[in-house]
Amino acid sequence: MKRVPTERKWIRCPYCGAKHSIYDNLAECRGVFLKCYRGCKREFELLIHNGEQQYRDENGNVRGMS
Ligand SMILES: [Zn+2]
Repeated sequence: MKRVPTERKWIRCPYCGAKHSIYDNLAECRGVFLKCYRGCKREFELLIHNGEQQYRDENGNVRGMS
């Protein structure tokens, strides 16, 4: 069965929460690095799994954005 994207969400900077870009709920992503242009200017890895953005904490553990 073909899955269709039904929801669009903002990618947010895990450090400051600034909006970056849009993804849909079927996106899967790792190993893509974005720079937070609208906020703290730090670079972060874009992690999307099961339609939810995640981030790596300072120990490298993947966590939900909550
Ligand atoms: Zn930021």
